[in-house]
Amino acid sequence: MNIKALENNGNIKVLIPRSLCALEHLANLRVNNEGFSSVEIFWDEGKVTKINSLDEEELSPNQILFPRFVESHAHFDKSFSWKNFPNLKSNYENALSVNLEEHITRTPRKVLERAEKSLDLAIKNGYRAIRTHIDTYIAQDKEIWSGLFELKKKYSHALKLQYVALAQLEFWSTSSGDFLAKELKPNNGVLGGVLVPPFKRKKIEDLLSNTLLLAKKYSLEVDLHIDESSIEPGAGINLLIKTIEKLKCEVPITCSHSSSLLFLKDRQIIKLGNKLAEKNIRVIALPLTNFWLLNRDDNNIPLHRPVAPLKQLQKSFVDVSIGSDNVQDPWYPFGNFDPFYLFSYAMPMLQLNPWDRLSLSALFNAPSRLLKLEWDGMVEKGCPADFVIVEGKAWADIFSGNLKRKVLINGIWDEK
Ligand SMILES: [Zn+2]
Repeated sequence: MNIKALENNGNIKVLIPRSLCALEHLANLRVNNEGFSSVEIFWDEGKVTKINSLDEEELSPNQILFPRFVESHAHFDKSFSWKNFPNLKSNYENALSVNLEEHITRTPRKVLERAEKSLDLAIKNGYRAIRTHIDTYIAQDKEIWSGLFELKKKYSHALKLQYVALAQLEFWSTSSGDFLAKELKPNNGVLGGVLVPPFKRKKIEDLLSNTLLLAKKYSLEVDLHIDESSIEPGAGINLLIKTIEKLKCEVPITCSHSSSLLFLKDRQIIKLGNKLAEKNIRVIALPLTNFWLLNRDDNNIPLHRPVAPLKQLQKSFVDVSIGSDNVQDPWYPFGNFDPFYLFSYAMPMLQLNPWDRLSLSALFNAPSRLLKLEWDGMVEKGCPADFVIVEGKAWADIFSGNLKRKVLINGIWDEK
């Protein structure tokens, strides 16, 4: 290690989105029409010690600073499997069947190789934490989990990992399910399941109850792939709410996808949003895979593109994150664990303005809260010097595709 790498103090003049920065002194602060402020940030011992606003606009810096990103929803156990398991029909049903073919050839070594490749890219590209789902089934090689828990420790200096064991709901009613739930607890894991119509209501209600009770038994969270569909709008979430109310259960819950909610009437979305907010249920919008897989028509571009109604839910005070989902696997053939790829696509797809606080909150602050990270991503005195700095002066420079970036991890430049 060189001397430069050992010095974890420094300072930098940058533009920063005003809504991601909390300043002590606002007297000289200027915000330009794209929501950026010019500041100088100082850090020492890995923590921000001072932030000064730069008052001369002509000295506007030509680099933009963001907190390192948090990925709320990934699947790194299958990333880069597209090459051997392509889904050329590009629909949900075929993605599932190709995914099951991949399971037959799955070994702990293959999963860990995909995971390490994903993590190395994620760190280099500017992530500081990832919640990733791991396909979980009875016939699975048990060694996978011990390898994954080791990996979490190995990367902890640069990135926080959280695992969701993604199983069919039936799994959580078995003794293997109970055993794994117990293992997940000390490793900060989450119980995962799938609740996508069409389904048999009574059976699913029983299985969902068992899953929630198991989560309660070991004080775990539940993260569901729910209503990732263009039929039976909101059927899964309505059943979930009914089940929670029946059990009087306060297990923390995340609803990943929630895509079909967009097909409900406006007043129904508001009503459901209020219920989700009241029960502190979080939602993750996943525009990339939803737009790719759902409501596909080989001959026409469909007008209706299911994705969680982020703006309506935010209006009801639901904490909504935007996540990436799959990377180069049967569910999505593109992506590269690059937060700027998601950022660049999510803004136009969801008609979000990057200069609005709520748009940035869904990418930075909501995912930090979801993973219960110590830092919520607001840049302020005392926060970690944990940044991605990109060349540019405007949002167009960030979304232009040819991005030059530097990553600072706890006050030390990542020079890999
Ligand atoms: Zn997913």
